[in-house]
Order: sequence, then structure tokens, then C-alpha cells
Amino acid sequence: MHERNGNPLNICVIGAGYVGLTTGTVLASFGHSVTVVEKDAAKLDVLAAGKVPIFEPGLEELMAEDLENESLRFSSDLAAALEEADAVFVAVGTPSSPDGSADLRAVDVVSDEIARLLRRPIVLVIKSTVPIGTSDAVADRIHEALGRRSDELAALGVLPASGRVEELCEVVFCPEFLREGKALLDLVHPHRIVIGTGSTKALDLLKDLFASIDAPILVTDRRSAEAIKYASNAFLATKISFVNEMANLCEVTGADIIDVATGMGMDERIGDKFLQAGVGYGGSCFPKDTKALLHIADTAGYKFSILEAVVDVNERQKRRVIAILRNMIGDLAGTKIALLGLAFKPETDDIREAPSIVVAKELLHEGADVIGYDPQAAQNLANEVPGIVIAGSAEEAIEGADAIVLLTEWEEFLQLDPVTIRSRMRGDLLIDGRNVLDPERLIQAGLRYHGIGRRIGDLGDVRDPGEGCESC
Ligand code: NAD
Repeated sequence: MHERNGNPLNICVIGAGYVGLTTGTVLASFGHSVTVVEKDAAKLDVLAAGKVPIFEPGLEELMAEDLENESLRFSSDLAAALEEADAVFVAVGTPSSPDGSADLRAVDVVSDEIARLLRRPIVLVIKSTVPIGTSDAVADRIHEALGRRSDELAALGVLPASGRVEELCEVVFCPEFLREGKALLDLVHPHRIVIGTGSTKALDLLKDLFASIDAPILVTDRRSAEAIKYASNAFLATKISFVNEMANLCEVTGADIIDVATGMGMDERIGDKFLQAGVGYGGSCFPKDTKALLHIADTAGYKFSILEAVVDVNERQKRRVIAILRNMIGDLAGTKIALLGLAFKPETDDIREAPSIVVAKELLHEGADVIGYDPQAAQNLANEVPGIVIAGSAEEAIEGADAIVLLTEWEEFLQLDPVTIRSRMRGDLLIDGRNVLDPERLIQAGLRYHGIGRRIGDLGDVRDPGEGCESC
């Protein structure tokens, strides 16, 4: 258990996903009493057995400690959890709708349930990433419904002396910035805590709740807090798309993106983070949040030109691998291509919007045999891309391959022996989609190496990746 400051509070977290489960577990480890409410019965069964339904380093161990201390429990019963709660965290998903907007149905369902069941004052903390103005709308929706229940609430003796139902449910927007794979670290040592509220009571409660965390707190209105979350993700995505465009330019001008990014990153105003060129960003946040922000701008009548380009560049970058492969080994029909790494990044089993999905589907469309390996995400990808063959190890995946494409920089791929790689392959091409392997050693072992924006290796003549991708 972490050392705790402040008063212990009763917390209800709604949604046992990457955010809800890790947040609930960490808050319980601070000594708060936490009930995580989840509607998915299969997930609850896994949790009831003391197991974690997602892969997140350290989570299972910390959860076991919390369960032993009885500071954490799981339930499907929101009404019972609300009977005790001082604060309720909303951590349900807000995925992309077909038009790019955030799908808020889960948030609306939870808001209506709370408005129907609430029988004591709470602070409602929205952690889900939601469009600017959503928390205000949630507050209005709940307060109106509570207003219709005011006689019942007065009879229960919970209506404040002022008679204002607003005081029964103070709505706060508190964006989450955790990174999958490093979620526990990010929750305990965040760069900042942003609290969007105009309520002193809510602010005091959250300061108590987060008292064990040593991080600057920025207090804003709810809309600005919502905008901070989108702006942060959109800006990071911009850095990635920028450096990927720069890498593509390096390939045709003979510069090396590693040196270029190193030189750029030495400028404190730029910083060296998020300057790694590669096959594009994926995951549950950047793709959906950039598209949602574009939708927000569009709805507001504003043309967000930079962000349009960021999204477009990323889509093209994911497909660039296909153009490189075609260019370097010709017709892909009948070839065997090994994909190393399928998760959108290392240390997670999450494949949402992973570049591997686009690459695997495109290769299958071209008639290639695609065999993939990932330490954690293989089954998730097999469910999404049924045509892919899943290997039990990296060595098995590369056996007889014409080309290898490294898509996720899992540590174990850095340990692969170049001579073994070469001897097991039928062909000799290795595309390092994350620029993490040692090109010299690979080339010495007889492999043709292609990094993203690297001067080293066989760059060939990469065509415009937009050309000829019928299923793009
Ligand atoms: P997720 O899909 O992994 O988890 C959401 C969970 O909520 C699911 O288990 C789902 O069954 C549950 N749920 C939905 N409706 C429910 C209801 N009515 N009652 C109880 N449970 C319900 O999502 P996630 O990745 O944890 O993301 C949650 C939110 O946090 C999203 O808005 C996301 O954008 C944001 N976020 C995610 C991350 C991340 O790295 N995953 C980081 C920062 C912010």
C-alpha cells in the first residue's frame, strides 16, 4: 500500500477498463475504500477470481494487495455502490462514432442511472474523455432528473437546506493522462492533475482524494479541462505525424531521421519526446481523440487545418510499409510476411487502431501469407483480422519468411540474434517500423535493412504509398 495522506473516502468507479480498473486499484492502495462497478459479466467473473482482464504491468500484484486489505471490491450493483459513495468516477468508454465524433452513449446511460438511483450527496468525477461541453450537459441532465425527484429526496432528508439539487451531485471533469503499459506509474506520479470545477466542495474533496500524489494541480472550468485533454493528445499526435513526414523526407533526400530528431530534441523548446519516427500512432486514444477534436471543430464551424493533416499523414504512414514491401520484393501475392509486434505499443495487449491491423489486412488483400507474433496481443489481433496466422514465438513467425516487419518495439525483439534471423528466413528483407534494431548488425548478418527515414540500409525507391492501395 502507498503511504496515504488525507481522509479515507468511499469511492465508486464505474467501468473496469484500462482507466477504471487502474484508477480504482491505485485509489484503494492509497487507503480509500473503492468499489469498481462493471456491467460486463465476463469481466466481473475474471475480477472475482482475482485476475486482471487486461494486460497492465504490476496491476495484478497491486490489485491482490488491495483485495487482501479489503480496500477494493468489484460489483455489478451501482445502486448499492451509490449508497456509500462520497465520490463517483466515470471511466466508461467513449469510442469513435462512424462520423469521428465521440460516442457518448455509455456516459449518458451512466448519467441517467446515477440520476435515478442517487440518494446521498456525491462528487461526480468524469474521467472518460468527452467533447467540450459534455460535463456541463451531464450536470444539467442529472440536475433536471434530480429536480423531478426532489419530493422523494426531501423525504429521505438528503436535500440540502438550500433546496438546490445541484449540491447533491457536483459534476467535475478530471481528464486522465495515463499511458497503457505505464498506467500505475502515471497514476501515482502524473505530470499534472487537472480539475475542471467551479465548486469549492468538489475541489476540496478531490484534493483529499489525491493527497498522496505529489503533482501540480491546475484548476479550471469544466470546458477548459475537457479541451486540455483533447489538445494534449492532439499535440502529441502532431509531433508524431510531423516527425514521420520528416522521416519520409529524409528517405528521399539522404538525411537520417535519428540524427535529425536527436538534433531537434536537444532544443529545450522542442524536447526529445515523441520524436520517434515509425509506422504511425495507434491505440485507444490518439486516433479517436484527434478525430473527435476535428468533429468538435467542424461542429463549431472551425477548420482545424493542422489536425486534418495530422490524421491524414498517420493514415498514410500506416500504409507506407506496404509500399516499401512492394518496392523491395515486388508482387506480394504468395509471399510470406512476418509481423513482429501487433499491439499498438509495447507492454499492452491493446490493439485498438494499431497499425498492425491496417498492415495485416492490406497484406492479406495483396495475397500475402501473413504470420504474426506478439507477446500479449496476438489473440486480440487474430479476433480482429481472422486471416492472420498467429505464431507462438518470434522465431516461429520468421521461419521461412520473405520479409519481416517489426511493428511494435517489444523489448524481446531487441534481443533477437541477426544471424539466426537470417538463417531462418527464406528472403532477406527486414523493415524496422520503429527504428529500434541495430542496422549494422543486421546488415552484417546478410539482411537487407529498411528503417523509417534511416540513411543506413537499402532504402530503395519508395513510391507514393497512396498509389495502388485499393483497400486503403
Ligand atoms: P475500456 O473500454 O477499456 O473500459 C470501459 C469499461 O466500462 C468497460 O469494461 C465497459 O464494460 C464498462 N462500462 C461501460 N458502460 C458501463 C456501465 N453502464 N456500467 C458499468 N460499466 C460500464 O475503456 P478505457 O480504455 O478504460 O477508456 C475509458 C475512457 O478513458 C475513455 O473515454 C478513454 O478515452 C479515456 N482514456 C483512456 C486511456 C487509455 O489509455 N486507455 C487514457 C486516458 C483516457
